[in-house]
Amino acid sequence: MIRKLLRRVFNKAPARENAPALIPVDTHGIRRDAIPPGARQTIARLQESGHAAYVVGGAVRDLLAGIAPKDFDIATDATPERVRGLFRRSRIIGRRFRIVHVMAGGETMEVSTFRAGSDGEAETDEHGRVLRDNVFGSMAEDAARRDFTINALYYNPADETITDYHHGVADLQRKTLRIIGDPRKRYREDPVRMLRAVRMAAKLGLVIDPAARAPIHEMADLLENVPAARLFDEMLKLLLSGHAVACLKQLREEGLHHGLLPLLDVIMEQPLGERFVWLSLASTDARVNAGKPTSPGFLFATLLWHEVLAAWEAHKQNGEAPFPALHTAMDEVLDIQGGKLAITRRIAADIKDIWALQPRLENRAGRRPLRVIEQARFKAGYDFLLLRAESGEADRALADWWQTFMNADTEARLAMLTPEKKPASRRRRRGRKNPDAAQEAS
Ligand code: ATP
Ligand code: MG
Repeated sequence: MIRKLLRRVFNKAPARENAPALIPVDTHGIRRDAIPPGARQTIARLQESGHAAYVVGGAVRDLLAGIAPKDFDIATDATPERVRGLFRRSRIIGRRFRIVHVMAGGETMEVSTFRAGSDGEAETDEHGRVLRDNVFGSMAEDAARRDFTINALYYNPADETITDYHHGVADLQRKTLRIIGDPRKRYREDPVRMLRAVRMAAKLGLVIDPAARAPIHEMADLLENVPAARLFDEMLKLLLSGHAVACLKQLREEGLHHGLLPLLDVIMEQPLGERFVWLSLASTDARVNAGKPTSPGFLFATLLWHEVLAAWEAHKQNGEAPFPALHTAMDEVLDIQGGKLAITRRIAADIKDIWALQPRLENRAGRRPLRVIEQARFKAGYDFLLLRAESGEADRALADWWQTFMNADTEARLAMLTPEKKPASRRRRRGRKNPDAAQEAS
C-alpha cells in the first residue's frame, strides 16, 4: 500500500514538473488588449509562420500584479536568424546571447529564442558563476533557466492563456518570491539573482521564500566576482525602481550591503549622511512614481556626497586650498566607487558638475550668482542644495534665496546681488585661494 503510494508519487513527480499548467483567461483575467499592438503583431507573425511565440517574463508578471509593464519581451522557438528574416525592421543584437530587436507600431520588442539552462557543460568561473549560457532549448528548458517562478510565465495573445511551468501564478497570488530550482545552485551560477530577489520582492510587495532567503547571508560575498558593469546596471535598476527605499532596507536586512558594494557601505554606515541619503532615495522614488525623469548622475551624487565632504575636509586640513581640495576629494571618491561599480564616464562627469556647484551656490558675493545660474547643470545643483538643506547640512535660507533668484527677472536679480565684503586689495590676494574666483578665472 505504502509502496504503491510512494511509487505513484515518485512516478508522478517528474511528469508534474514537465507538464505546465495552462491557465485560461477566466482565471487570470489578462485580455489580449493589455498587450500593445506592436507586440501582438510580432507574435501573430511568428505564429502564422509556424512558430511558438509568447509574451514572457516581467510583462506577464506585472500585468498579473496590476502594474504597468516597462517593456514586453517575446520568447519564441524561432532562431535569431529566422526572426531577422521574418521582420524587415529588425536587427540581431547582443554578444553573450543573441536576441532580435523587432520594431513594430512605434515599439521595439526584444525577441529571444528559447534557451536551455546551464545544467551540464556550461562554462563557469572558479566560483561556479556561469560565463556562457547561450544554448537554444525547449520551452520547458527556457522556463527552467529563468530566475523566479513569477518570471517564468508565458502569455499567448492568440488564446489568452498563460503557460505556467513552476506555479508562478499561485506564488504571485500568495505573495511569495520563489526561486526555480535549488537556490544555492542558482545563486552560484549568477550571484546577481540575490539582488534581483530583493528588488522583485520590494517592487511587488512579496515575501522571499525562506529557502531562497536563507542562503543569501552566506553567499553574499559571491557578488564580488560579478563584473562591475553588470553590478552597476543592476544597482541602477534597483535605485531607479521607484522602490529604492524599500530595496535598500531589505538589502541591509539580507546582509547584502556589506563589504561587497562599497557604495552601499557608504550609504548605510555613515550616520552623518544617512538622513541625506534616505531623503534623496525617497525623493527619487517619488519622482519615478510620478513619471518624472530621474538622472543617475544626480542620484549617485547624493549617495556619495558625504564621502566627498569627509575627504574634502581631510584635504583642507592638510592645507590644500578649498577648490583644489574639493576636486581631489571628488576624484578620490569616484575612483574608489568606480572600481567596483564602473560608473560610466558620462555619469561621473554629471556627478562632478553637481558637486562642484555646491560651494559656488554658497558663495553669493558680487556678480557670481549671475554666472552660476548660467551653468548647464545649475538646476540639478540647486535641487541638490535643496536636499542638503532638508537634511540640515545646508542653510535653508540659502536654498530659498536661490529659488527667489531663479524665478526673478534680470532687474530683480541685479537688485538681489550683494557687494563683495572684503576690501579690493585683500580680495585680490585671497583670490587664488577662493574657490569661486579660481574657477571663474579659468
Ligand atoms: P523588470 O524589467 O521589470 O526589471 P524583468 O523580470 O523583466 O523585470 P529583466 O531583467 O528585464 O527583468 O529580465 C527579463 C526576464 O529574463 C526575467 O523576467 C527573467 O525571466 C529572466 N532573467 C533576467 N535576469 C535573469 C537572471 N539573472 N537569471 C535568470 N533569469 C533571468
Ligand atoms: Mg524587463
